Amino acid sequence: MKIALCIKQVPDTSDIKWTENNTIKREGVESIINPYDVYAIESALQIKNTCKDVEITAITMGPAQAEDILRKSIALGIDKGALVTDRKFSGADTYATGKTLAQSIKTIVPDFDLIICGQFAIDGDTAQTGPSIANHLNLKQVTFVKEILECSDDYIILTRQADDGIETVKAKLPLLLCVLQNYKEPTRAKINGFIKAQKSEIKTYSLEDIGLEAEEVGLKGSPTYVSKAFRPIVTHNCEKVFADENTPELICNRIEKYKAGQNE
Ligand code: FAD
Repeated sequence: MKIALCIKQVPDTSDIKWTENNTIKREGVESIINPYDVYAIESALQIKNTCKDVEITAITMGPAQAEDILRKSIALGIDKGALVTDRKFSGADTYATGKTLAQSIKTIVPDFDLIICGQFAIDGDTAQTGPSIANHLNLKQVTFVKEILECSDDYIILTRQADDGIETVKAKLPLLLCVLQNYKEPTRAKINGFIKAQKSEIKTYSLEDIGLEAEEVGLKGSPTYVSKAFRPIVTHNCEKVFADENTPELICNRIEKYKAGQNE
């Protein structure tokens, strides 16, 4: 079974700063593997440990330094890493990101059986990229995946978080999954993994390599734009209420005020 695993490098901070174009400022900020993608890696490794002949390729679209998360994923047990990088990809919205990643998967793992994404990236946080990739590849998808229960060359059985509980789903391959945080403690890399990661070749793919036109990617290929980015200011308006004379109870009315029109 061939698995394409999409992972994203995100800033290791909740203190997001914005550029003048309303995109996230990434320079000078420590980066990590998107936390949901840690569980996507975990799900891929679980399938590798259960099924025969599984090969996992981690793919990321990002700047040159995103190679770091590919090496980290190899240290955890992923087989290969591919970096999709080109200045023309910058400024992509989720539509252009989905299109670029879909085309990259077709180029890098043309015979894939499964694509695994995280459910959200903690910086952009739209949860649109996985479904967008599935749409561009005309592929079925299962979102909000909690746990992989069983897999074979033809199908996969898993649980997913639904609005009113946990569903068990059996789905035919090929398929795309978007994975949520689950109950398991993520794998830690061992020394052999770090050595393999350092020695591994990370292949890079440019716009030309994946066969799209400049008009289809990055800012030019993005039908949406960020007109405004702002941080909500939360204030608490509290009122003291006494249930009886010995047990004072504090009731807080949470009021969210939105300071619009100004980047912070
Ligand atoms: P989600 O959809 O929440 O992510 C879900 C999953 O998709 C992730 O867990 C991961 O598995 C996968 N995934 C997401 N992104 C990637 C990736 N790059 N590689 C591999 N897998 C991935 N961002 C910038 O950094 N620079 C910009 O200049 C920029 N300009 C933008 C302009 C516009 C108009 C818009 C709307 C967004 C822009 N963004 C920019 C944000 C960028 O579009 C998103 O970061 C990207 O589309 C992914 O969306 P998301 O972060 O919401 O991920």
